[in-house]
Amino acid sequence: MSKNLHRHGSQLRHTISSFLFLFLYCREPGAEEKFKEISNAYEVLSDDEKRSIYDRYGEAGLKGAGMGTGDFSNPFDIFESLFDGLGGMGGMGMGGRGSRNRATEGEDQIYNLVLNFKEAVFGVEKEIEITRLESCNTCDGSGAKPGTKPTTCGTCGGQGQVVSSARTPLGVFQQVMTCSSCSGTGEISTPCNTCNGDGRVRKSKRISLKVPAGVDSGSRLRVRSEGNAGRRGGPPGDLFVMIEVLADPVLKRDDTNILYTCKVSYIDAILGTTLKVPTVDGMVDLRIPPGTQPNTTLVMGKKGVPLLNKRNMRGDQLVKVQVEIPKRLSTEERKLIEEIANLNKAKATSSSR
Ligand SMILES: [Zn+2]
Ligand SMILES: [Zn+2]
Repeated sequence: MSKNLHRHGSQLRHTISSFLFLFLYCREPGAEEKFKEISNAYEVLSDDEKRSIYDRYGEAGLKGAGMGTGDFSNPFDIFESLFDGLGGMGGMGMGGRGSRNRATEGEDQIYNLVLNFKEAVFGVEKEIEITRLESCNTCDGSGAKPGTKPTTCGTCGGQGQVVSSARTPLGVFQQVMTCSSCSGTGEISTPCNTCNGDGRVRKSKRISLKVPAGVDSGSRLRVRSEGNAGRRGGPPGDLFVMIEVLADPVLKRDDTNILYTCKVSYIDAILGTTLKVPTVDGMVDLRIPPGTQPNTTLVMGKKGVPLLNKRNMRGDQLVKVQVEIPKRLSTEERKLIEEIANLNKAKATSSSR
């Protein structure tokens, strides 16, 4: 082939792609003519036989030889040839990728575990029942009926892959897909009756799960190798335990702290008192100091949630104090309060003198 034409070729490919853009989106007058010219030139370059005729006789030779100029009325056709000529869109290499009896990793499995408030705070050991795919005992995970021999898949010729073309507005894309006849194994086997050829069967299993102290809703535990079995000897997947924690009617959780609101009478707020307060450790005495202001937050140190994986460290319980003011008073209460009021007035008058 002529060197000149070859060099011309790479320029042309570039021109064709930019020109196609113009042709498709601008539809300039005369664009179609120009397009056909380039199409023909490209067709020549992509075909060795035509190229040699062109080299010897020019374009007239091609017409005379009845080769036609190609009907590129559908501009996408040229993309197809273009990609073919360039060796495809990648991943076209057939062979060499021996996928025969490919080992594949098992899928991860998810288990949703609901814990009550205290289980999440202190951790718990739970026995859970999971269902997952395990290696089939009948065929030892091969998927083939025992005593039968697999034959090479006719669809993919044993490659386990087939090439498919998809036509899109951007051109024709070719894709390497797993062969559906043999599921990528390259072989056709008589399927095992127990697992229908999958090599795996669904089984349930009870496993003991240690939930660490300090987990919360949204925590995720990973149990290695307890997911689905792999195929053809591939490693098993993992089991992910997704945790949801039920709310407690009185204690609220804020990360490692626990929030609680207590109510004290105005008298207790003024004089001070000791209250019994619910905590995750049970009822615990909380001292309300004299003169406690409304909405004060009192800290009960280390009565909160243990830090995940640091069991000796704990958050706090934060107690918000609500001071209750009576809406009605008895006659006697009213008299006494008025006495305090008079006392305060007297104090104020005497101090202003
Ligand atoms: Zn089986
Ligand atoms: Zn196949």
